[in-house]
Amino acid sequence: MARATEIEPISPLGLTLEQFKAACAREGVGPGRATTAYHGVFRDGIAHEPPARLVIPEIVKRHEEPVDEGVTIKFVQRLPNPNHRLADKGIDFDDIESVIIPMKGRSGRKTHTLCVSSQVGCAMGCDFCETAQMGLMRSLRADEIVQQWWTAEFIEKIHIDNIVFMGMGEPMDNLDEVLKAIACLTDHHGARVAMSAITISTVGRVDGLRRIEKQVQQPGWGKLGLALSLNAPNDEIRSKLMPINKKWDMAELQQVLIDLREVRGGRKIMIEYVLIPGVNAELEHADQLAAWMKPFIRDEEREKHSGHTGLLNVIPYNPRRDSPWPAPTQEQVDAFIQRLMTHGVFVNRRRTKGRDTMAACGQLGTAEIRRRNLVPLTTNQTNNA
Ligand code: SF4
Repeated sequence: MARATEIEPISPLGLTLEQFKAACAREGVGPGRATTAYHGVFRDGIAHEPPARLVIPEIVKRHEEPVDEGVTIKFVQRLPNPNHRLADKGIDFDDIESVIIPMKGRSGRKTHTLCVSSQVGCAMGCDFCETAQMGLMRSLRADEIVQQWWTAEFIEKIHIDNIVFMGMGEPMDNLDEVLKAIACLTDHHGARVAMSAITISTVGRVDGLRRIEKQVQQPGWGKLGLALSLNAPNDEIRSKLMPINKKWDMAELQQVLIDLREVRGGRKIMIEYVLIPGVNAELEHADQLAAWMKPFIRDEEREKHSGHTGLLNVIPYNPRRDSPWPAPTQEQVDAFIQRLMTHGVFVNRRRTKGRDTMAACGQLGTAEIRRRNLVPLTTNQTNNA
């Protein structure tokens, strides 16, 4: 058995307690000591060395924005990356962004949602998106995803109630690591985030959604939240805005959501729609969108049997730098929503403050990285990039 001084410390971030205990056992550390160390990291924010090791990247930028519910905090952390593809130009790090968003529920209780990044940059190339301009640098490991939660809890000292994968990157493009991170975050011995408090948002990778269909049938995974970034009323517009639609069109997307409805026991699927004037904001687009939403429209009869509804979030577009489109006016947003409601679609209008944060995915991406002017990788280069 190895003596304590010879133990190679292990980071529990990204591991469940069982996985951490197994890793500790290989170093000759017993389950009791491993459990104490695991609790230390996730419950008290401290590492008992050895066997636990905790290296949290430095926060290199931090921005606070007061909102009605409190303060929205965006923080940027710098991860060392000696294998960076621009290492020969002296760049050996990746910057990742996370956002803590205060919210107030109907009961008046204040909660905090953490928007995490799953990749550095993104390969999906959505036309309206800031992050798309960066291209994909690499996918994050599970521990690098979990450390964003750890930073929010123990450096920012804000208790996180909900986690959404709506930061930089397409989670389905890095699904193995995202699922590992979720298994860690929901471990009852560690971070103890409820599965129902976690939402994965996708741009519509049907292969990933098919994996989720199987995953949510595993014990403990049934309440995982799902959101789809739809953003268009028909294939023609969607393929222009979001290249992923050329691979999986809206009919395929609709079908996978219907199949998910069957296995998710009535949990809502959030459908996100960024409203862009001159692109997808006409009233006829509202009609087409409502027709696509039909299987998910609130229907008393259907709810009795399946308990399912789709919920549409209309997000007023927040122009990215050099955007060809403006933000919609209040009147455009209201008219679009009103039309959807006449079709029975249950609509939630994302408030303006959300634009800079959870509105996307699309709005993250640091200026510094953008200035490097990298060429986006193609989708099939993304995993383990
Ligand atoms: S909108 Fe999301 S999926 Fe599309 S390019 Fe931006 S970060 Fe990627």
